[in-house]
Amino acid sequence: MPAKTKRKAKPSKKLVKKKAPKARLKKLRPIKVIVNVKKLLLLEEAIKYVTDLSGDKGLEVFKYLIYKGPMEENALAKKLKFNKANAIRKFLYKLYNKSLVSYVRKKRGAKAWYTYYWRANPERLVFLLQKEYEDEIAQAKKSIDLNKSGDFYICNNCNRQYGLTKALENDFRCSNCNGTLSHLEASEVVGEKESRISFLNKKIEKLLELVKTK
Ligand SMILES: [Zn+2]
Repeated sequence: MPAKTKRKAKPSKKLVKKKAPKARLKKLRPIKVIVNVKKLLLLEEAIKYVTDLSGDKGLEVFKYLIYKGPMEENALAKKLKFNKANAIRKFLYKLYNKSLVSYVRKKRGAKAWYTYYWRANPERLVFLLQKEYEDEIAQAKKSIDLNKSGDFYICNNCNRQYGLTKALENDFRCSNCNGTLSHLEASEVVGEKESRISFLNKKIEKLLELVKTK
């Protein structure tokens, strides 16, 4: 009996001990990303990305999973009028390659086949588009550095570009079409690239407006 009273006497300590790990776990929980899918799917680039990757059918599958939520593979195939699950898998795998969809598999009984449940990851599309823009920005920056550091000539006919050495070698003629070469104003190229960069940065900004983290 005295032991019981002792334990009861220290409830506060016990509570504190219990709470601490829970609080830590909460911090470790992955950040939830919420995407405005309606606006995302209105973006031309978003549609183009998914279509280039998986075709019109793939886009249909992706959109369907976004709006309907996770779905079992055979049911999904049926809903989208594929004659069999095998036919839809081709598209699912293409999307899966870029993690635009993911799956869990479940076994119903001990002898049963695995059943696949697929879901769409629209937040991944935002990430992929952002990466595309960032890659192009990096390229443009490289090109700016190159143009700032050298003299360039452009064919008046076919727009090919040549460095000074090449231009001299060919008597300021184009080695492709024999057109005449003009000196290319580096500032023009740089200006063009710079405006492209700010255009892309705005695109990234707009893209990230579609994302909320929780
Ligand atoms: Zn030319």
